[in-house]
Amino acid sequence: MKHGHATASTYHPWRMLRTDWAHVELEHTDDIPCGRLADTNGIDHIRMRRRLYQVERRCALAHELIHLERGNTGECSPALQAEASREAARWLIPWEQLLAAVRWSRGESELADELWVTVPILRARTGALRAVELMEIAFAVHDAHYIMPGDE
Ligand SMILES: [Zn+2]
Repeated sequence: MKHGHATASTYHPWRMLRTDWAHVELEHTDDIPCGRLADTNGIDHIRMRRRLYQVERRCALAHELIHLERGNTGECSPALQAEASREAARWLIPWEQLLAAVRWSRGESELADELWVTVPILRARTGALRAVELMEIAFAVHDAHYIMPGDE
C-alpha cells in the first residue's frame, strides 16, 4: 500500500464487506459482462472479474456495495450505474484528500493513483462536484503554483 492512504477517514470497502455484509458471497470469475469489473444480484452475491488490479477491485467492490445497500436487483440502467459509481466515488475519495492531491498532481492518472482509485471513479467524483467545490480546488491549485521560493 502506498503511504498516505491509510488515514482514519479512508473508507475501507473490504472491511465493510466483512462487517456489514458478512452474508454476501464474493465469487471471482471470468463470467462478467464485457466492460464491467463486477456485478451483484443486489441481495447476497457479488461476482468479480479475475486478475484485476487491487485498485480496480477496491473500486468495483465499493460500487457493488452501493447496489447492495440500495437493493438494486436485476439489470441496472446506465443512469443507475452512474449513480452507484458517483456514490462509491464519494466514499472512496474524501474531500480533504481530493483537495490535497490536486495541489501537485500533474494529470488525471497521477491524481487517480494518489487517491488510490481508478480513472472512471475519479471522473465520477469530479463530475459531481458543486460549483463552490470547483472554486475551492481552483484556489488550492493556484496557491500551490504561485508559492515562489525566496519571494517575500
Ligand atoms: Zn453497477
